[in-house]
Amino acid sequence: MIPYGRQNIDQSDIDAVEEVLRSDWLTQGPAVSGFEQRVAQYCSSSYAVATNSATSALHIACLALDLGPGDTLWTSPISFVASANSGRMCGADVDFVDIDPHSYNMSIHALEEKLKSAKKVNKLPKIVILVHLAGQSCEMQRIKELSNEYGFAIIEDASHAIGGKYLNEPIGGCKYSDITVFSFHPVKIVTSGEGGMAVTNQSNLCNRMKRLRSHGITRESVEMEGETEGAWYYQQIELGFNYRITDIQAALGYSQMRRLDVFIRRRTVLAQRYNTHLERLPLALPFQHADTASSWHLYIVRLKQKETVKTREEIFNILRKSGIGVNVHYIPIHLQPYYRRLGFCLGDFPKAEKYYQNAISLPLFFDLSENEQDRVVAELENAFQ
Ligand SMILES: *Cc1c(COP(=O)(O)O)cnc(C)c1O
Repeated sequence: MIPYGRQNIDQSDIDAVEEVLRSDWLTQGPAVSGFEQRVAQYCSSSYAVATNSATSALHIACLALDLGPGDTLWTSPISFVASANSGRMCGADVDFVDIDPHSYNMSIHALEEKLKSAKKVNKLPKIVILVHLAGQSCEMQRIKELSNEYGFAIIEDASHAIGGKYLNEPIGGCKYSDITVFSFHPVKIVTSGEGGMAVTNQSNLCNRMKRLRSHGITRESVEMEGETEGAWYYQQIELGFNYRITDIQAALGYSQMRRLDVFIRRRTVLAQRYNTHLERLPLALPFQHADTASSWHLYIVRLKQKETVKTREEIFNILRKSGIGVNVHYIPIHLQPYYRRLGFCLGDFPKAEKYYQNAISLPLFFDLSENEQDRVVAELENAFQ
C-alpha cells in the first residue's frame, strides 16, 4: 500500500534522539528550548511554546486569549476536529464559517457576512481559528482587517502549514494573528512523534501558555501572590495541565527542522507533477492563491461530477483495492455526532458539505518516488475507465 502520508527518518534524527537518551534529561531539558528557538527563528516569531500535541497547543492558546464559558469561537467546518474542540475544551460555544469553494479555506465573504449578522445580535466571536488547509495560507491580511473592525482574536491552525509562505513570508510570523499553532504528528510536514508548538509575538501570551502547559505553576516571583518563601518555592496561579513535550521528542523535531526546506521542495515538485499528469482527468486540481506558497501537506482533488458518472466512493474503493492509500480530509466537523448533538445539522454549511461529497487526498510525502506517483496516476486513470 502506498500511504497518503509518511514520515522521513534519517540517521541524523536517530543520532539526535540517541544523544538525549544518553543524557541527563529526558524531559524539560535543553532540547525543548532548542526546538522552540529553532521554530521561532524559522518563522520569524518572537516566542514559542512546545507542547505534547497541536491539540494541547490550541487549547492553551485559547485559554491564554481568555476564552471561557459564555464566549464563542468560530472556525472552518473543513478541518480536523481539534480545531473546533479547542473551543469546547474551554467551555465556549463553537460555530463555523463556510468554506471558499476554490481554496477550501474559510471563506472571507462568508466570514464578513456572519460577522455583520453576529454584531446585530451581540454574538460576536472572541476568537476565530483559521485553518491553512493542506498547507495553503488563508487570506490573513483581510482577516486581520476584519479582526480590527470586529474585535476578535486570531489563532492560525497551521498544523498543515509549517514551511508554507504567505506574501513571501513564512507562516508563523504572526503578523496577522495572535498565535500560530503547528503539529508534529508523523503525517505532518516535520515530526517529533507526537508534538505541537504555539508561536506568538506577545510575551504575555507566551508566559501564560508556558504556565498552562505545566499545571498553572509559576516559579517567577513577579507572578506570585505575596512573597516567595525560598529557592524551592513555586505557586499554582491557575488551573493548568501537563502538556509538556519530552526532550526525546524535541530532539527529533529539532533534527527534522534542518530538513524542512528540503521537505517542502520535494513536496512542491511532487504536487507540480500531479498537476501536469492529472490535467486530463475529470478532477478539480488544487487551486493556489497568488499570495501563497503551500507547504503541500495534502494534495486534494475533487471529482468534477458533471464530467464523470463515477462517484467518489467508487473511485476511492478502486484506488484502495489497488494499493493506493487515498484518504478524505475532512468529514465536516459540524456533522460529527458530538456536534450534531449541540444542534448542528446537514444543510448548515452547504459549501463544506458539497466539498466533502467529492474530495479525495492522494498520496504525497517526501519519500514518494516518481515511479510510485506514476502508479497513483495510472490507477486513477483506470478508475475513471
Ligand atoms: C493534525 C491536526 C491537528 C491536531 O494535531 P495533533 O498534533 O495531532 O494534536 C489540529 N488541527 C489540524 C488542522 C490538524 O491537521
